[in-house]
Amino acid sequence: MENQFRFYNTLTREVETVVPHEEGKIAMYTCGPTVYHFAHIGNLRSYVMEDVLEKALRYAGYDVKRVMNITDVGHLASDADTGEDKMLKGAKRENKTVMEVARFYTDAFFEDCRRLNIKRPDVVEPATNCIPEFIHMVSALLEKGYAYVAGGNVYFDTGKLADYFVFSSAVEKEQLQVGVRDDVEEDKNKRNKNDFVLWFTKSKFENQALKWESPWGVGYPGWHIECSCIGIKHLGEYMDIHCGGVDNIFPHHTNEIAQSESYLGHEWCKYWFHVNHLNDKSGKMSKSSGEFLTLSLLGEKGYDPLAYRMFCLQSHYRKPLVFSYENLDNVASAYEKLVKKIALLKDEGEVDDACFAAYREQFVDAICNDLNTSMAITVVYDVVKADMNDKTKLALLQDFDRVLSLDLTTAGARYAEAGNDGDEELAAFVAAKIAERQEAKKAKDFARADAIREELATKGVSIRDTREGTVWELS
Ligand code: AMP
Ligand code: ZN
Repeated sequence: MENQFRFYNTLTREVETVVPHEEGKIAMYTCGPTVYHFAHIGNLRSYVMEDVLEKALRYAGYDVKRVMNITDVGHLASDADTGEDKMLKGAKRENKTVMEVARFYTDAFFEDCRRLNIKRPDVVEPATNCIPEFIHMVSALLEKGYAYVAGGNVYFDTGKLADYFVFSSAVEKEQLQVGVRDDVEEDKNKRNKNDFVLWFTKSKFENQALKWESPWGVGYPGWHIECSCIGIKHLGEYMDIHCGGVDNIFPHHTNEIAQSESYLGHEWCKYWFHVNHLNDKSGKMSKSSGEFLTLSLLGEKGYDPLAYRMFCLQSHYRKPLVFSYENLDNVASAYEKLVKKIALLKDEGEVDDACFAAYREQFVDAICNDLNTSMAITVVYDVVKADMNDKTKLALLQDFDRVLSLDLTTAGARYAEAGNDGDEELAAFVAAKIAERQEAKKAKDFARADAIREELATKGVSIRDTREGTVWELS
């Protein structure tokens, strides 16, 4: 499956086949959260889809190394270096230190990820761990003439680049250039409007909480430099795939490319994967607006986090997705029905290899073709209702779940535990299995008895033999 994986590369504006720098390996980077508040379900949409991308690449046979930063310094209220530092804002709001806030929301983020079956990246690096690396890169950019010091801060000089707006079409570039001339200069230190700060020493935040010594005075790094440095630190000079939400395209990713390629002297990352936004009726969901939906809030309202994952997977990552409770309700009940149906499949007989291969091919086609997750879910439904034995269905669903991570073959038991109408169906099924196991034991067919125990375990049911008989519980 390697070399047939295709997705839309924002850099070339085309769906392209991924050809990694090193055969068989993918160096992948994800912009991590700014940990001054809970992640909202919009942020989590991006992380769900990036998780699916990573798992799809692994499924396709690649050895993936994925790196994520944690932004705990330098991200100002506006992505273009103006406004208050977001971490400081969080600390003031909660009357805590910046590091306490960072720790709390980093843990909360990974707890959300765990509940959504999002795999933890291989490397997770907080920006505040890498100050020497930032200082090294800023010094090198100054030496090479791509940066300048003005008013105490260090700026990247976008005027030195032949093509700064790398993600924009020719028409958009023209408009952006016009915009540059028309706009009012906000920061008088900047040579060009789009120049951005690499290192702050003097800014309007006199009370910046975290500061470090640097050759340019005591200060702190700009936001963009962290992803360039952390990416290069852990993935080397060549990155295959860089991900983020569409709001990261400009200025964040544009600035990352400017810095990294000026520093390295060659192309840095070949493929750029961007997830479109989750919006609510009033527009884009954002942390700074203060009002946003969290996964915990959905949990309090009784939604299964995996129903939200399925909600994300049912639409294409490149399309904006509108959140409404009505839409989520529909997906949640479809999810519940689906996993309950799967819970009734019997793990018996032999896998039909021809059937397995045919459906697997359909699934591979869907995910390798610009990560068509809604099509992949259609294949799941096709498998469930197909005319093939249960063993083959279960094998296929387990295989697909390596990418989808919807707990397809185990979640049914959770619903029974929740005490809804799946209870009875599952209880009847387990009772039948226990009776069958008793028969097998009586006939001294212990292999069969063990197989039944294992089958129940795959559905999240554990059994125990007691003097009063066999009892079961959901594990
Ligand atoms: P932040 O914590 O603000 O740095 O954002 C974390 C990630 O969420 C970034 O990749 C953003 O591009 C992404 N993001 C922000 N808002 C949304 C949204 N409404 N829908 C989807 N992704 C988003
Ligand atoms: Zn980033």
